[in-house]
Amino acid sequence: SIPLGYFGGIGLASARGVLIKGSIVMDALNDVRTVIFDKTGTLTEGVFRVLSVEVVDGFDESELLRLAALAELHSNHPIARTIVKEAQRRRLPLRDEEITFHKVYPGKGVMANWKGKKIIVGTDEFLSENGIEVKESSKNATVVNVALEGKHIGRILLGDALRQEAKNAVSKLRALGVEKLMVLSGDNQRSTEAVAKEAGIPCFKGALLPEEKVKAVEEEMEKAREKEKLLFVGDGINDSPVITRSDVGVAMGGIGSDAAIEVADVVIMGDSLEKVPEAICIARRTRKIIL
Ligand code: ADP
Ligand code: MG
Repeated sequence: SIPLGYFGGIGLASARGVLIKGSIVMDALNDVRTVIFDKTGTLTEGVFRVLSVEVVDGFDESELLRLAALAELHSNHPIARTIVKEAQRRRLPLRDEEITFHKVYPGKGVMANWKGKKIIVGTDEFLSENGIEVKESSKNATVVNVALEGKHIGRILLGDALRQEAKNAVSKLRALGVEKLMVLSGDNQRSTEAVAKEAGIPCFKGALLPEEKVKAVEEEMEKAREKEKLLFVGDGINDSPVITRSDVGVAMGGIGSDAAIEVADVVIMGDSLEKVPEAICIARRTRKIIL
């Protein structure tokens, strides 16, 4: 039977906006020694700003942004929403009928058919995979390339601010004895590094596809000593598989998908990263009461 103390701990946590799904999770939280963060929407606010639009070979800047927004019209990724909003802010006409086909590639971008022409919007790798040559950007930003009919026509550079509580959450985790902290991201290496450094996290891996995030987490779990647990925290966009696979999968309940909330072991209701160390604290106190 489950010791009564667990119910107290779970109740206390839920009053603090942390949903802990049962006593096994509570025990695992106690033994967390590795914490891995998703970047976009987790360490950062997930609210992008358009920093600049760069065009190749004199392509029209407004038309580039308009085509990207058309292709992204039905994608709910924060990047997509930002591009659509920026196009609307600039009063560029976005008529849905112009797009006859649209497909989302998680962790890569989108593809669309615009008046019989193929538009690809996404990462350097996504364009390369499709046989399109891209020169790497030297800017410290999230890069969204745009290709039309197999030709790179430019890129949109986006910025996303670190969550204001991120540094505090990191130092509280260290104080709780978390030895290893890491950032995983589908975003490029340069922007992943910048966010990791700003948050005070020395380890990071960028340019990962959703299934590569799972592999990275599995590798870290293999390295861990007996009984030591790994916690992964994500915002639920493109990271349900890795939340499922981690010893303790945490979903930020803010904008995250229902699927992630379903598979997560812990759900953070208030959308603050400081709830992660708080959950570990509550688990420690609960164990003291039980033992
Ligand atoms: P993260 O791991 O940082 O949460 P994602 O896995 O959601 O990021 O996406 C990884 C990268 O793939 C993004 O940084 C972006 O470059 C690209 N990407 C993903 N979705 C889109 C989209 N809808 N439009 C353009 N680019 C996208
Ligand atoms: Mg994310």
